[in-house]
Amino acid sequence: MSTRAQQYDAQVLRREQLSAHLVRLVLGGPGLGGFASTGIPDEWVGLVVPGQFQSRYYTVRSWSSGELVLDVVVHEVGLVTEWAQLDVVGQTVTITEPKGSFAMPDGAAWLLLVGDLTAMPAMARIASEVDVPTRIWAEVPDDLATYLSGDVTWLSPPAVGQSALAQVVESIDWPAGDGYFWMAGESAQMRAIRKHLMRDRRLPSTAYDVMGYWRGVAQRQPRAVDPGPIWRAGKAAGRSDEEIWAEYDEARES
Ligand SMILES: Cc1cc2nc3c(=O)[nH]c(=O)nc-3n(C[C@H](O)[C@H](O)[C@H](O)COP(=O)(O)OP(=O)(O)OC[C@H]3O[C@@H](n4cnc5c(N)ncnc54)[C@H](O)[C@@H]3O)c2cc1C
Repeated sequence: MSTRAQQYDAQVLRREQLSAHLVRLVLGGPGLGGFASTGIPDEWVGLVVPGQFQSRYYTVRSWSSGELVLDVVVHEVGLVTEWAQLDVVGQTVTITEPKGSFAMPDGAAWLLLVGDLTAMPAMARIASEVDVPTRIWAEVPDDLATYLSGDVTWLSPPAVGQSALAQVVESIDWPAGDGYFWMAGESAQMRAIRKHLMRDRRLPSTAYDVMGYWRGVAQRQPRAVDPGPIWRAGKAAGRSDEEIWAEYDEARES
């Protein structure tokens, strides 16, 4: 059986500037005909933009009536970042089949979500689809109050390119009982946070999902690593989410 991920060609139907650093791309067209959501609320796809062969990963903000919505962070320099700032309507991109990682245990009584701007699409979708009391910490440079509703603590990054999310997590007043913790942001920070949850809070790996969404390195990423095969192989081998994401971080650094 082929392990090659299914790919779809899609047209950029619309482009909307949601805030200074967030651009919405609505994709559609006949090439997306066979596309199907996994139903997992943090599902992502690989996106290959015209003239490129490397993919970057984006959360499926929504998939409805043949339209796939991706919300793309525009940061300083980057392959998709630079492309998404152009007039891209009408262009054809390639999308890979979606994969998801969010796995809240059945008995979870509460949910905590923490993330930076890249995590906003996943946090917004998770919050709208999960039916337990949810607290959210969002560290974003823009006013996105209408993007995410509910019990949200809005935080500004301490400086451009910096984050205080590690301290935020360490100071969380955890609810009683069993729940689920989901977080995404810069990879090195996420590794430190996984260690904190494992060693200091002694959470079982089924109680949290902490994902490195991007790497804070000086220049353009040398290569992208598809989380899909690592995820599938890890699940097939019975590894925990925490082990799989640690493996993904290592693969990106090798
Ligand atoms: C499962 C998953 C889901 C994701 N979902 C989303 C999503 O919905 N929306 C979204 O915007 N991103 C999302 N990301 C993150 C996104 O894939 C990365 O930020 C990606 O590197 C952006 O690609 P680029 O071509 O713009 O920059 P690259 O060419 O990859 O990187 C260029 C430079 O920019 C830096 N850089 C990369 N990302 C950022 C950033 N966010 N802020 C500051 N500097 C950065 C790099 O360190 C590098 O120096 C997701 C990642 C994963 C793994």
